[in-house]
Amino acid sequence: MMLLTRKMIEIRNMLQGVGQSGTLTLPSIVVIGSQSSGKSSVLEAIVGHEFLPKGSNMVTRRPIELTLVNTPDAKAEYGEFPALGLGKITDFTQIQRTLTDLNLAVPAEQCVTDDPIQLTIHSPNVPDLSLIDLPGYIQVVGRDQPVELKQKISDLCDRYIQPPNVILAISAADVDLANSTALRASRRVDPRGERTIGVITKMDLVDAQRGVEMLSDKKYPLRLGYVGVVCRLPQQSGLFHRHGGNLANAITKNENAYFQAHPLEFGPQSELSIGTPTLRKKLMYVLEQTMASSLTGTRDAIVQELEEATYEFKVQYNDRPLSAESYLAESLDAFKHSFKQFSDSFGRPEVRQLLKAELEQKVLDLLAKRYWNKPVEDLAKAPFEADPITDLSKSEPTSLFWQRKLDASTSELTKLGIGRLATTVVEDELKNRVSTLVDSSTFSAHPYARKAIADAAESILHDRFYSTSDQVENCIKPFKFEIEVEESEWTKGREGAGRALKSELKACEEAKKQLEQAVGRRKLNDVTAFIDRVRKGDIYLEGDSSAGAGGFSSALLQTGRQAIFLRDRADILKMRLAGVKSRQCSSLRNKYHCPEVFLDVVADKLTSTAVLFLNVELLSEFYYNFPRELDARLGRHLSDSEIERFAREDPRVRAHLDVIRRKDMLELVLEKIESLRQLEGKAKAATGGG
Ligand code: GDP
Repeated sequence: MMLLTRKMIEIRNMLQGVGQSGTLTLPSIVVIGSQSSGKSSVLEAIVGHEFLPKGSNMVTRRPIELTLVNTPDAKAEYGEFPALGLGKITDFTQIQRTLTDLNLAVPAEQCVTDDPIQLTIHSPNVPDLSLIDLPGYIQVVGRDQPVELKQKISDLCDRYIQPPNVILAISAADVDLANSTALRASRRVDPRGERTIGVITKMDLVDAQRGVEMLSDKKYPLRLGYVGVVCRLPQQSGLFHRHGGNLANAITKNENAYFQAHPLEFGPQSELSIGTPTLRKKLMYVLEQTMASSLTGTRDAIVQELEEATYEFKVQYNDRPLSAESYLAESLDAFKHSFKQFSDSFGRPEVRQLLKAELEQKVLDLLAKRYWNKPVEDLAKAPFEADPITDLSKSEPTSLFWQRKLDASTSELTKLGIGRLATTVVEDELKNRVSTLVDSSTFSAHPYARKAIADAAESILHDRFYSTSDQVENCIKPFKFEIEVEESEWTKGREGAGRALKSELKACEEAKKQLEQAVGRRKLNDVTAFIDRVRKGDIYLEGDSSAGAGGFSSALLQTGRQAIFLRDRADILKMRLAGVKSRQCSSLRNKYHCPEVFLDVVADKLTSTAVLFLNVELLSEFYYNFPRELDARLGRHLSDSEIERFAREDPRVRAHLDVIRRKDMLELVLEKIESLRQLEGKAKAATGGG
C-alpha cells in the first residue's frame, strides 16, 4: 500500500498549521545512538546527501524533526525549514550550514534543548519517512561541558522514544552490544523489543563472523530485527560531490563490495538483514505498519480535539461564523457608513466656519502687528513715547496716515496666500476627522488598515491640492484690487470684530492669570512695577539686564515683561472693543477709524468666495473618491494573505478565526483519517486479515 505514511505526514502538516496540541502525535522513527556510532552516516545514507552538522564539538544540540517527502516526478531535490520561511534550499551544504547555525544558537552552558528544528526534504530519491534525529549519547562529559549534560541528553531521548514512535537504535559493530547505550535505552522503554529496529554500523571494522553473531543477537531479541550496514563515505567524498554523484549509490556500492567480499557470511543464502537499501525498505514498511496501527488512536485523539474546539466555539463565540473576508467586508462597510454620516454633517457652513475662524486669527495678527504692538522688549531703552492707536479715534477721518495703514493691512490680508491657506486648513480638518472616525471604528486595532485609510485620504487630497488652491487664489484675486462694502456687511462686520476682540481679550486675561499662578501675584506685581518705573525713566539701568536687575532674576524680569505685554494688550483690546461699539464705527464712512471692522468684512468676503470653490474642488471630490479609494486599498484588491494578515492584527478576531480554522481543519483531518481506516480495512480483508 505504501501511502499511509505519506498521507499521515500530510495530516501532520495540516495539524501543525493549526497548532496541534501535545496529545496528538503521529508516529515517527526516532534515531538514537552514542556519539560516533555512525548515526549521522546512516541518516545521510538514507537521504542521499551530506547535510548534518559535523564536528567534534557535539553539534546536534536540538532534535531535528526530519520529514522526507518522495516526489517521484520531480528532478530537483530541496530542503525546507518551515518555521524559518527561508524557502526552498537546493544546496545541501547550505542546509548543513543552517542546521549548524541553529544548533550552535543554543547557548553552550545549556548544551541541549528539546526545542526541535523542523526540516523537510523533497526528493525523488527519498522514501516518505518521518525521522527524528536526537543528540548522541555521550560517555564522558567534556571539560567545558556541564556535568549534568549526560543526564540531559538521556532525558531528552527518553521523552522521544515513547510509543507510538519506532526506535532506531544505532550501535557500532566495534563496540560490544551489551555496552550499546542506544540498545540499553530502548530496552528500558521497549523491554519486549516490539518497536525497536537495531542498526549495527561499521560492519567492516569487525571480523565477518563477529558481525553475523551481532546481527543474530539473542540477548535482546528484536521483533523488527537488526540490520547491518557499512555507511562510511567514499574517501574522495569531495571529488564525488563535485561530480554530482548520488551519495546513496556510492555508499551502496562500497557496502556491496564489503558484503560480497564475505559470501560465506553475507551471501544470498544468509537470512541476515544487511545493507542500507534493506534498511530503507524496512523503515518504510515499519513506519507504514505503525501508522496503520495508530490510526484508531489518532482518530480518537482527533475526535476529542474536535469536541474541545466545537465546545470552545460554542461557549466563547456563540457559534458565530467569521472569516477574514467577512470581517474585513463588515468593517469596511461600517467605516464607509460612518464616513457618509460625517460627510452629510460637514458641508459648506462648516467649512465656512472653519475658514472664517482661521482668517479671524490672521486679522488679529495683522492688527497686532500694524496697530497694537508696543515695544517692551528692551528694558534699558528710552521709554516708548505715545501709543499711536490711542490717537486713532481723535484723528481726522481723512488722515492719510490711518488710510495708508488700513490699505496696507487689507493688502497684506488679501495677499496672504489665501488659496494655500484655505486648502490646507480644510485638508487638515478632513484628515483629522478621518482619523477620528478610524479611532472609533473596528479599524482602530489594525495598524495596517489605519495606514491604508490615512494613505487613501492623503493621496486624494494630495491630488487635489494644487488645483484647488490655484482656483481659490484666482477667485479671490479681485479683492486684491478693490473691496466694495455694503452697509449690511458693515453691520455684520461690527458684530464679527466685536466677537473676535472679546475672545482675544479673554485669551489675554487667561494668559495673565497663568503667569500669576506660576510666580505668585505679589512677586509678579513687584517685578512689573519695577519694569514700569524703568520704562518711565524713574530708574536708570546701566548695561544690559540679561543677568537680572533690581534684585530680580532675568527669568523673572522676562515673566514681568510678558505680564506687562498682556496687561497693555488687554487695555488696548478693551479700548478697541469700546471703539468698535461706539457711534464712530456705526457707519462704513468711518472705516479708517475702525480697521477691526473693515478687516473682518474683508475676511468674510474672502471666506465666502473661497468656500464656494473649496466645496466644489475639494469637498465633493473627496466625498466621492474616498469610499472608492478605500475599496481599492482595503477591499477586493487585497490578496488573501493580506486580508488574513489584516484580520489577525486584532487579537480577539485572531482567536475567533483560530478556533474556526482549527475546527474546520480537524473536521477535514477526521474525514481523511476515516477514509484511510476504510482503505486499511479493505487492504486487510484482501490479504486475509494481514
Ligand atoms: P555520529 O557521531 O554517530 O553521527 O557518527 P558519524 O556518522 O559522524 O560517524 C563517526 C565516524 O565513523 C566517522 O568518521 C565516519 O566516517 C565513521 N563511520 C561511519 N560509518 C562507518 C562505517 O560503516 N564504517 C567505517 N569504517 N566507518 C564509519
